[in-house]
Amino acid sequence: MKTIGLIGGMSFESTALYYRLINEEVRRRLGGLHSAQIAMISVDFHEIEHYQHNGDWLSAGRVLAKAGQSLERAGADFLVLCTNTMHRVADFIESAASIPLLHIADATAEEIRRHEISRVGLLGTAFTMEEAFYKERMTEKFAIDVLTPDAVDRAIVHRVIYEELCRGIVDNESRTEYLRIIEDLAQRGAEGVIEGCTEIVMLVEEQHTNMRLFDTTAIHAMAAVDASLGES
Ligand code: GLU
Repeated sequence: MKTIGLIGGMSFESTALYYRLINEEVRRRLGGLHSAQIAMISVDFHEIEHYQHNGDWLSAGRVLAKAGQSLERAGADFLVLCTNTMHRVADFIESAASIPLLHIADATAEEIRRHEISRVGLLGTAFTMEEAFYKERMTEKFAIDVLTPDAVDRAIVHRVIYEELCRGIVDNESRTEYLRIIEDLAQRGAEGVIEGCTEIVMLVEEQHTNMRLFDTTAIHAMAAVDASLGES
């Protein structure tokens, strides 16, 4: 079994989900008392969020690249960055380490392709929904057409992530708003919706909607188990 290097804390609410999902899946596949071999660095999200909202991606990248190097020294065989947004600096983290990074957008796009879907909606932070690093990777590498909500709804999705979900708050009114936004994406032709922020699954789960959801937390965690057990 390979050792998974988790770069977490963004936020710790979703890193806790990764930790549980990965361990449960390893136990399910191997049985008995098996659990995952994990090395983890959990950063202070206050610092990362400050860099994000000041557009200082270089400083945020430095913190995460250092975490990746520490995990490599701790024996990690590959890196899993437990956030969609911070994949904005994935190249920087990759070039600082000599072990591979399991990219969340690639794992998600492969899952979307497995369902033979080519047009999806994307919910995430403003950075993930509005900047090129995520959407273009899906389009250019996997020929997936990515739709995002309009500006007003993007602001709602972003606010709920930082003011509620990353603080452990799950609010019914916010769920209603998200479901309305998901329905709107469906009306515009989305065949599924990417929960492109690792906390969104805390708010909207499969039972809440008929729309096919791509939960990036679970998809990324399962890809990590595949890579760890050599079952990709
Ligand atoms: N966990 C979130 C994501 O997947 C947002 C927190 C962050 O900005 O990293 O994008």
